[in-house]
Amino acid sequence: MVEEPRCPYCVLIDHFMLLSPTGDGRFVCMKCGHVAFPENKIFQCLCSHCSAMRAFEPAKPRFWSAQKSVNW
Ligand SMILES: [Zn+2]
Ligand SMILES: [Zn+2]
Repeated sequence: MVEEPRCPYCVLIDHFMLLSPTGDGRFVCMKCGHVAFPENKIFQCLCSHCSAMRAFEPAKPRFWSAQKSVNW
């Protein structure tokens, strides 16, 4: 069973906003422009919502968690 990608932003406003497949593995929200790429884990959406989220809480460097796990 394949789960249909949905827009995490428009779900909050409306009800389920199904994303439209673009044909190359990506799915785009026709309402806000959010793009999902389920097969690409490092893909970063450039829609206004995701850009605002990253500006507010930028991704933390990976080595942070590694340093914190070191117990002196
Ligand atoms: Zn949307
Ligand atoms: Zn987005």
